[in-house]
Amino acid sequence: MSDDRDRRTEPVPCVAVPREDGEATRAALAERDLVDGDHRITVADGRLYVPVTDPTAVPDGFDVVTHESPVREGQTLPEDILGWAPTYERLGRIVILDEDDPERARAAADAVMESSLPAETVVNRASKVKGETRVRDWDVLAGDGTEAVHREYGCEFLVDIAEVYFSPRLATERHRVVGQVDAEDHFFDMFAGVGPFVIPAAKRGARCVGVDLNPAAVRYLRENAERNGVADRVTAHEGDVRAVVDREDYDGWASRVVMNLPHSADEFLETAVRLAGDDCVLHYYDIQHEDDPFGPGEGAIREAAGDAYDVTVETRHEVRSYAPHELNVCLDVRLTR
Ligand code: SAM
Repeated sequence: MSDDRDRRTEPVPCVAVPREDGEATRAALAERDLVDGDHRITVADGRLYVPVTDPTAVPDGFDVVTHESPVREGQTLPEDILGWAPTYERLGRIVILDEDDPERARAAADAVMESSLPAETVVNRASKVKGETRVRDWDVLAGDGTEAVHREYGCEFLVDIAEVYFSPRLATERHRVVGQVDAEDHFFDMFAGVGPFVIPAAKRGARCVGVDLNPAAVRYLRENAERNGVADRVTAHEGDVRAVVDREDYDGWASRVVMNLPHSADEFLETAVRLAGDDCVLHYYDIQHEDDPFGPGEGAIREAAGDAYDVTVETRHEVRSYAPHELNVCLDVRLTR
């Protein structure tokens, strides 16, 4: 290959360490199969930048940054084939395109399969997330399996994107919430999906309950609890969380409640307050206009808590931009009886 090829760089996730820690770091990452062989390790300003395949799986304590890294000779990216850069993210061996134009999507899928990316399936978004289960339609453009193993902060999730909701983009946010969990917690996830909050919370020693009305999500949640060695601390229930809480005995049980159903979480606040013990933190997700992203949620929580609890907002956190002028936010709110 020509020198030009070798000089091409790309912004990729890297672990940055002082130069003297380089070999130990590279070895630690290689042991976890995280070193990205498609880009070169580089040195700049006395620091070594080790490209990684999955930044979310890098163990705590390492500094993950985006760094312009040289593409290795012989590696071909989709953009090398196309002459333009398609928008995509990776979930295990599935490459997820975000292309509106079907012809561009078709060309991008062919290029992905021809490229050096380790892809078995290429899909394009064919609808927004929809209905109660928040599952999207997909155009499967190459391969045929929509099930993948995704790694996130040391946990492993088996997920079928045609059957359940899952977004790798929320990894950092989940890590922020789970970082607050300890072994004393009773952790209740009202809309648990395949377990991306429940499993890492259980790994921190908490007793966890996850509920979902999508039977496939509950199946994957149980499977993922087994895979990550925490099945003894995880209970999964299938059904509308309001019915589950009516049926089971969880009143006053929880020290932490996660409510990640941003468009309609307010409809479930009465149930969340029922679950709350004497001291309980709600992690309440919402989508609101940027002019007042936290006010409506805070008001709804105060109303649901009534006189029974003191309400303290501990964090008002912007998760991401959702649409023009609309924000996806999280309120961490402590209820104290
Ligand atoms: N927490 C998971 C995550 O971060 O990947 C899933 C979040 S997804 C936005 C919302 C989930 O809530 C979906 O899996 C959906 O099936 C479930 N759901 C929707 N309405 C529900 C209800 N009334 N009771 C229980 N689960 C519900």
